[in-house]
Amino acid sequence: MTYKPEHVIILGGGPGGLATGHEVGTKGGKVTVLEKNQYVGGLCRTIEDKGYRFDLGGHRWFSKNEDLNDWFRHLMRDELVLVERVSRIYYQGKFFFYPIRFTDILKNTGLVTILHAGFAFLWSVFRQSVRNQAVVTMKQAYVSQFGTKLYDMFFRMYSEKVWGRPCEELSADWVSQRSKGLSVWTAVRDALIGSDNKVTSLIDEFMYPRNGYMRIPERMAEDIQTSGNTISLGAAVSKIHYHGPHDFQVFYVKDQQQQSLRGDAVVSTIPLGFLARILTPACSDEVTAAANALEFRDLITVNVQIRRKQVSPDTWLYIQDSDILFGRFHEPKNWSSDMVPDDEHTSLVLECFCTAGDEIWSMSDDQIAARCVSDLVNKLQFIKQDEYEGAKIIRTRYAYPVYDLDYARKIAIINAYLAGFEGLNISGRGGIFRYNNADHSIEMGLMLGQKLLGYDIDHMAVNTEDDYQEVIVGHEAQRDKYIFHPPPAFAASAEESAREAKA
Ligand SMILES: Cc1cc2nc3c(=O)[nH]c(=O)nc-3n(C[C@H](O)[C@H](O)[C@H](O)COP(=O)(O)OP(=O)(O)OC[C@H]3O[C@@H](n4cnc5c(N)ncnc54)[C@H](O)[C@@H]3O)c2cc1C
Repeated sequence: MTYKPEHVIILGGGPGGLATGHEVGTKGGKVTVLEKNQYVGGLCRTIEDKGYRFDLGGHRWFSKNEDLNDWFRHLMRDELVLVERVSRIYYQGKFFFYPIRFTDILKNTGLVTILHAGFAFLWSVFRQSVRNQAVVTMKQAYVSQFGTKLYDMFFRMYSEKVWGRPCEELSADWVSQRSKGLSVWTAVRDALIGSDNKVTSLIDEFMYPRNGYMRIPERMAEDIQTSGNTISLGAAVSKIHYHGPHDFQVFYVKDQQQQSLRGDAVVSTIPLGFLARILTPACSDEVTAAANALEFRDLITVNVQIRRKQVSPDTWLYIQDSDILFGRFHEPKNWSSDMVPDDEHTSLVLECFCTAGDEIWSMSDDQIAARCVSDLVNKLQFIKQDEYEGAKIIRTRYAYPVYDLDYARKIAIINAYLAGFEGLNISGRGGIFRYNNADHSIEMGLMLGQKLLGYDIDHMAVNTEDDYQEVIVGHEAQRDKYIFHPPPAFAASAEESAREAKA
C-alpha cells in the first residue's frame, strides 16, 4: 500500500513545489513550503518597475493535457487573457517565421538558398540511411531533422548563444524534447497544401495571466495558505538529516538563524546536485563528482522602457547574430495591456544568456543596459535613442539545465544514491534536472501530490513524450497524467472564464 505522509516538507516555492503543496494542502494534508527567496514563483517571476511589469523572459501557458488546462482555468478564474502567437527569427537583417515556412525562406533569400537547403536536407537523409549512425549531439539532431543549410541559418548560432558552447558538445536530447515532429517534410507539406489543423496544429494562441506569469504561483500560494498550511519565505534549506525511513529533519537558515523541521516526506525542487550534497548520510565521492558536474546556464533579463506605442508585432523574436548581446526578446504589452504604465509606452524584455562569472555576467548593470540599448538603436534599428526612458536589470542563477554529452550518466548516479532515502521525492526543473516548462513542473507537482495522497501514479513520466511539445498530433503518447476532479460548480465557471478571456 502507498505510504500517506502526515507532514510533507517541500523544498522550493517555484511552480513545481507549490503544485504539490496545492494538491496535498487543499485536499486536507499538512505541508510546509520552504523557499529561499522573499517571493514565491522561482523562474516564473514577474517584476514590477515604474509601472512596467515583466517576466524573466516571456512565459506562455500551454499544455496538451486538457485536465491540466481545466485545473489551470479553475485556479486562475478571471485573470486570464488569450494571446495570439507570432514567433519570428531575425537573421541577417530579415525576419523569418518560426516554425520555419518555406514560402518565407523563398521570399527572403531566393531560389538558390531554397535549393541549397533542399539538397542539404536530402543529402543528410541519404547519409543517415546509409550510415545508420546514432544521433548523439545537438548538431547531429538538428542536421538529421533539417539538413546542414537550415541548421546553419536557424539553429546553430541561437543554440550556441543559449548554451555558450558548440552544438557538438551538447546532447541531442534537448532537440528531441523541443523540436521532434517539426521537420522539413512538415514545412514542405504546409507550403504545398497548407496546415491541416485537425492533424497538426502549431499553437497559435495561448493563455496568459493579465498581470504577469507570477500570478500562477501566487494563486497556488494563496490557496495553500487559505487551507491552513505554511509557506516560509526567506528560508534557505542548508542540510537534511535522514533519521530512517519516512523520518527527515530539514535544516534551513531564516533571519540569519538556523532552524529545523521534522517531516515524514520531503519533496525537493531545489537543484538536484545541491540536494545530493546536503543530505546525510553523505554521498560517495562518485556522487559528489556527478553532483558538482551538473551545469546550469544563467540569465540576465533587461527590461528596456520605451516611449512608443509598439515596437514589433511579435510574441517572441529570436536574434541569432553573435554580435548582439541578447538572444531573444518579447514585448509584454503585446501579451497584456496591463504590463505597461499607459498606452503611450511599451517595453522590450531582452534575454542575455550567460554563466555566472563569464564576460557578460561580469558586466555592471549600467554596462549591460548601455550595450543592449546601443544594439537596439544602432545595430538593429528597432528603436530610436530618444525613445529610450530607462532599463531594469535582473540576474537569475540556474535558469537552464545544460544537457552536455554526459548529463544522463551523472543524473543516473545521483538518482541511485537518492533512491536509498525512503520518503524523499524529487520533482521540478532543477529538481530532477529536466528541461521542464512551467506546465510540466506543475503537472509533475500535482501528480506527486496525488501520489502522496495515496494514488498509484508516476509523476516522473511528465515531459518524457517523444513527440514535439508544441504539436497536437491527435494520438498523444500514453503516460500517467494529471486527472482533475473539478468541484461541482466548476464546469460552468470554467466555460464562463474561457468566454471572458476570448472577449
Ligand atoms: C527565460 C525563461 C523563459 C521561460 N519561458 C517559459 C514559457 O514560455 N512557458 C513555460 O511553461 N515555461 C517557461 N520557462 C520555464 C519555467 O520558468 C520553469 O519550467 C518553471 O519555473 C520551473 O518550476 P520549478 O518549480 O520546477 O523550478 P523553479 O522555478 O526553478 O523553482 C525552484 C525554487 O526552489 C527555490 N530554491 C532553490 N534552492 C533553494 C534552497 N536551498 N532553499 C529553499 N528554496 C530553494 C528557488 O528559489 C525557486 O523558487 C521559462 C524559463 C526561463 C528561464
